[in-house]
Amino acid sequence: QQKLGRGSMPKGALAQVKNVICIGSGKGGVGKSTLTSNLAAALAADGKSVGILDADVWGYSIPRMFGLGSDRPPVSPDRKIQPLEAHGVKVMSIGFFVAEDAAVVWRGPMLHKALTQFLEDVAWGALDYLLVDLPPGTGDVSMTLSQLLPQAQFVIVTTPQDTAQKVARRSAEMANKVSLDIAGVIENMSGFTTPSGERFPIFGEGGGKALADELDVPLLGKIPLTMPLRAQADAGTPLVITDPDDPAAQNIRQAARGI
Ligand code: ADP
Repeated sequence: QQKLGRGSMPKGALAQVKNVICIGSGKGGVGKSTLTSNLAAALAADGKSVGILDADVWGYSIPRMFGLGSDRPPVSPDRKIQPLEAHGVKVMSIGFFVAEDAAVVWRGPMLHKALTQFLEDVAWGALDYLLVDLPPGTGDVSMTLSQLLPQAQFVIVTTPQDTAQKVARRSAEMANKVSLDIAGVIENMSGFTTPSGERFPIFGEGGGKALADELDVPLLGKIPLTMPLRAQADAGTPLVITDPDDPAAQNIRQAARGI
């Protein structure tokens, strides 16, 4: 097996992957995984070949959002791990390898090894987009991946209220620390509109725009709070597939075209 030096690419592993997009956030619970799964499904519905590497090793949720269980992916005779596929998206997650309720307690070196394997030993094949769902914050995983994927672009998910706190600054700091190109910011949980059309800015206003301006990158989209987006994630089929004309789905499809 090939040894990797720090900062070197897994040779040939992603040779046929045109765009690598890492999706990160300053803190958990902002909808990063929900958006990653919907962005991937939207790109696939547009005819692109798409994979998701679920690198949110402690809070992995991509398998559930794609209706995939915890089956182990098959390994081909040439010892490549085959990603599982759902809704036209190839998926690889640590969730396929650990018991559902087991806490993942890996530390730096083991994480580095697992992530390297997920890039090097997985048969990703030819992809237009590989989306990487990062864990929140600026930890080992983000640093490791930015070394392994120097060509990646970075998309930051934030809520509207985050500039009111120090969280947005943390996202910006992470972006600088990992020194990847930032493709843009997506604001999630951007207000709630009642069936009668009244809009409530439950999590405040303006965080996405403020962060995008601070980083001098585009605001790729503002995704409202909606129950169907949450319900479909829980049910295992992204909303962009079941109801592409839903306002939240439309905004996500628009954001997907911007990355
Ligand atoms: P993260 O990956 O940032 O930790 P998740 O994608 O797991 O966040 O989302 C956290 C919770 O919020 C989930 O229950 C998800 O279904 C819900 N959620 C995310 N975005 C929205 C939204 N725009 N509207 C309603 N619920 C949402």
